[in-house]
Amino acid sequence: METIGHWVRGRSVEGRSGRTGAVFDPAAGRQIATVDLASAAEVDDVVEVATDAAAGWAEASLTTRANVMFKFRELIDGHREQLAAAVTRQHGKVRSDALGEVARGLECVEFACGLPNLLKGSFSPQVSGGVDVHTMLEPVGTVAGITPFNFPVMVPLWMLSNALACGNAFVLKPSEKDPAPALLLARLAQQAGLPDGVFNVVQGDSEAVNALLSHPGVDAVSFVGSTPVARHVFETGTRHGKRVQALGGAKNHMVVLPDADVDVAADAAVSAGYGSAGERCMAISVVVAVGDVADRLVDAIGARIPEVVVGPGDDPASMMGPLITREHRERVRSYVQGAAGEGARVVVDGSDVDLGEGFYLGCSLLDGVRPGMRVYDDEIFGPVLGVVRVGSVDEAVALINANPYGNGVAIFTRDGGAARRFQRAVKVGMVGVNVPIPVPVASHSFGGWKDSIFGDSPIYGPEGIRFYTRPKVVTTRWPETAGRLDLGFPTGN
Ligand code: NAD
Repeated sequence: METIGHWVRGRSVEGRSGRTGAVFDPAAGRQIATVDLASAAEVDDVVEVATDAAAGWAEASLTTRANVMFKFRELIDGHREQLAAAVTRQHGKVRSDALGEVARGLECVEFACGLPNLLKGSFSPQVSGGVDVHTMLEPVGTVAGITPFNFPVMVPLWMLSNALACGNAFVLKPSEKDPAPALLLARLAQQAGLPDGVFNVVQGDSEAVNALLSHPGVDAVSFVGSTPVARHVFETGTRHGKRVQALGGAKNHMVVLPDADVDVAADAAVSAGYGSAGERCMAISVVVAVGDVADRLVDAIGARIPEVVVGPGDDPASMMGPLITREHRERVRSYVQGAAGEGARVVVDGSDVDLGEGFYLGCSLLDGVRPGMRVYDDEIFGPVLGVVRVGSVDEAVALINANPYGNGVAIFTRDGGAARRFQRAVKVGMVGVNVPIPVPVASHSFGGWKDSIFGDSPIYGPEGIRFYTRPKVVTTRWPETAGRLDLGFPTGN
């Protein structure tokens, strides 16, 4: 059976800890590889390699770095199919969805190609007589990136594109559930001319994560994953003096007003609720039906569910693949099976699909969902859509604002005024107006509010440049006359 190891100083490295994890093909429901799980000592070695390489890369000219990023962009573009196939094999999502993930990751590389412009500092001449001030953006040093299973190409690219462009070294700790695509990215970066040691991959679980969080050689940590782990990463990393951005879980609402086109809204709810088997942090998991649209909407969503073809990700007919593990499938199934007991109406029960040993579930639709029910309160992270019925937009906003998560939200309406009031009132980081999955393009930044993020920095885009650089401000004077003693505090006169 294949063993998936680390990538250090530009080559594959076998693990030494003796600890391994199982990697599955979720479509077949069987183990296909083992992954090495790094010890703290192995993490030490990787961080040392990265820190040594960081100094040289920080000194590489902007032109050199931009050339590497452009070449990296070309190579990813030319390897879309290979990257997508690697994602489908270990994650299970269907090919079109995996290609979409690659495309959205590629956007971040393209943004980072503009690094000579992005890293321009600022200059203020003559702030005082004969005194100039300029600000330079310097790399932070060595960055650790810790990523979730659900986007094994895109989320690493959210981080490493800007981190590398800014002149940092990067240590990626991918999810142990689908660790292979990270190695493909590392090879492509090497082919693009990135010096060995600047981008390393350390495979592992919480032991490797905790070693990175306390390692004195790690200057900044980017994390994407579930809320409890995001909170732990933020608290531990900052306690060890690091700059940390930690993006967590979600419960995304889609509000449908009575004037909305019900067919448009139902298509969006099904696509955004069940795409990638609901395993997206921006998946719609709650439809908030306002007023008399509810019955029409529930009927329209229910009528579409039989059209969703569930099957292996590499079958072109499949629209929705399996879940990531058997345990996760059982957890999601338990929510559907417990929903009626909590007082919800099970409109469609997708908890039983007969597709062999793969970790499959069908689409489930629950009506009459309310706060206080587990199906509302928890992030289920599976193909389960709950409908909450409310009487007004104000009630919808109050529901959303009382939810501890604040990642994404969407409103479906034909009323521009209502949409404008909604986007201003709602306490959520990313808002879609007739757009169910409002993942910002790479020239903007991605980040939720409340328990969907810890730390003050959204990820990628302009915020990514800010996070991966430190400003240094230089005040300069070239005196032309002899000085004189002045013990007063310098002022701008
Ligand atoms: P996870 O939190 O279980 O794992 C994320 C990473 O943390 C992995 O690399 C894992 O090895 C590591 N990890 C897990 N448990 C740990 C622990 N106890 N201590 C230290 N490290 C630990 O998340 P997941 O199941 O891989 O991914 C799904 C979650 O990620 C969902 O909650 C989803 O909403 C969230 N997510 C959020 C975003 C976002 O942008 N906000 C994007 C994608 C996924």
